Amino acid sequence: MEIFIEILDGLILGDACLERRKKTHNARYHHECVHYTYMNYIKQVINQTDTFIVSDFYPKERPTLPNSTYTVCSYVHEILTEQEERWYTNRIKHIPEDIRLTPNVLKHWYIGDGWLSWNTSNKRYKEGWNPIHGICFATEGFSFEDTDILLDKMKALGFPCGRGKDNNMSLRGSLVKDFLSYIGTPTCDCYDYKWQIGDRGLYENLKNTCSCTRENQQPSL
Ligand SMILES: [Zn+2]
Repeated sequence: MEIFIEILDGLILGDACLERRKKTHNARYHHECVHYTYMNYIKQVINQTDTFIVSDFYPKERPTLPNSTYTVCSYVHEILTEQEERWYTNRIKHIPEDIRLTPNVLKHWYIGDGWLSWNTSNKRYKEGWNPIHGICFATEGFSFEDTDILLDKMKALGFPCGRGKDNNMSLRGSLVKDFLSYIGTPTCDCYDYKWQIGDRGLYENLKNTCSCTRENQQPSL
């Protein structure tokens, strides 16, 4: 199976979307991110399909955001239309019942819409001891029913998650190491920080200094 089709569910669980201007048109893939390296990886896996082909890869100024983003956009294709019909009802994303949470799908979901949370309320925090509290997934944009599908599938994998009042999902700290082993290493250096569960200082440093974001680029690049 082509990598792009394998990881597509994870990308759509995160920030990517499938766009379709009219019912009579086919859908295209659209994805924005501050990291050039990650977007370049996505561009390459799309171009490996030989059918979708990236039609645009461009920096896009987003004055309302602190960082400006890079955008990957594919040509329209009927395979993407099938996926659009599987994922969207009246242009609103819904979790497909048949979603498969493979390690690669979970990896790109975590990269796109997951984050580490740290136990800052622990009294030993001030002494420099920063235990990991867990992993959160931004599922607040989905309905409770949609999120139920993800909760059931995560439980079946041995990663039972809780659900907050905001409908975000969270995995407790004792399962984080197993979860990260299950999904494997990050796709590119940009997201190394999300794997730094033993060192809060390294996590913060890597998170804020990736040289491929426009904000962090040197003038000579
Ligand atoms: Zn980066």
